[in-house]
Amino acid sequence: MAKVFYDQDVNWEAMEGKKVAIIGYGSQGHAHALNLRDSGIDVTIGLYKGSKSAEKARKAGLTVQTVAEAVAGADITMVLIPDEKQADVYKNEIRDNLRPGSALAFAHGFNIHFKQIIPPDDVDVFMVAPKGPGHIVRRQFVEGSGVPDVFAVEQDASGQAFDIALAYARGIGGTRAGVIQTTFQEETETDLFGEQAVLCGGICQLITNGFETLCEAGYQPEIAYFETFHEMKMIVDLMYEGGMAKMRYSISDTAEYGDYTAGPRVISDASKQAMKDVLHDIQDGTFAKDWLLENKAAGRAHFLAMRRQHAEHPIEEVGAKLRKMMSWLNEEKPE
Ligand code: NDP
Ligand code: MG
Ligand code: MG
Repeated sequence: MAKVFYDQDVNWEAMEGKKVAIIGYGSQGHAHALNLRDSGIDVTIGLYKGSKSAEKARKAGLTVQTVAEAVAGADITMVLIPDEKQADVYKNEIRDNLRPGSALAFAHGFNIHFKQIIPPDDVDVFMVAPKGPGHIVRRQFVEGSGVPDVFAVEQDASGQAFDIALAYARGIGGTRAGVIQTTFQEETETDLFGEQAVLCGGICQLITNGFETLCEAGYQPEIAYFETFHEMKMIVDLMYEGGMAKMRYSISDTAEYGDYTAGPRVISDASKQAMKDVLHDIQDGTFAKDWLLENKAAGRAHFLAMRRQHAEHPIEEVGAKLRKMMSWLNEEKPE
């Protein structure tokens, strides 16, 4: 079993007095920056001139500099801009400003593992990757809990990279929930697989197929939405709290019997084989190559077309209408 690190396992001195540059102030960026600051760390945000998020960061009381300036003044540079932009920003603004003996950090292993970024030998390279969306990383920190992280050390120039990475995880609240050591390879491959096969790709397609099956059979779309989409969160909340057993305890025996008998018919051996194929494309770099090409040569035309097509699906129209009636869903969540 993997060792799980908690607050008491952290050598916090490894972070004390360190200046952290957070590059990007988006989903993860705002969460790392605000959580670290609230943990007593000196944080500066690095953004390009004219960035839309600069104003938000300033409003939160943070100092905003150019990427180059922020990196030059930092002991730890955490790169939290979109993965597909990191290699260019690294080459143009980060590489030549990294102080020897400082640390270069990531929240996902993609660019290091697929060799889009090759750091110099005289810096630490580590990862602290929250296993949850940035806005939840911030929200749970404020509430006193935390989102679990995984961390990894790719390069240990200072001899302290392990302690620094773990202390960073504490600074953003991760060790409150539990932090596990991994490698850049394992994190990259499992993270991509999870989001593609299960968490995002798998579940969205499962819901969509279920919704379409009911609508095509003549049932009302609003009913189909409740049965295949709206209830999902309640079911998942129960699994999250107490495993599949807790969910199965709460549903009717009829639902539980159908769960066991129909589940493997829908997500069958063929689906498992497809998952293995997806994993293979991740492991051999096919997915990374396609995604990087999509961002360069193709101008993201295919990606943007898929985004538009999915946003226009009837399930989104029906859902928007129904969610409007549930006022509690429309509340602004704190940043
Ligand atoms: P976002 O898409 O939210 O990052 C956007 C931020 O990057 C904005 O502040 C944007 O500025 C800024 N930015 C964009 N281009 C540049 C540039 N050229 N120079 C400087 N700043 C720039 O990223 P995420 O938070 O989603 O992802 C960051 C990293 O965290 C990735 O490695 C990702 O894999 C990882 N991760 C993300 C998770 C998530 O919850 N989203 C979960 C776990 C890991 P502007 O506002 O001006 O556009
Ligand atoms: Mg991911
Ligand atoms: Mg039902």
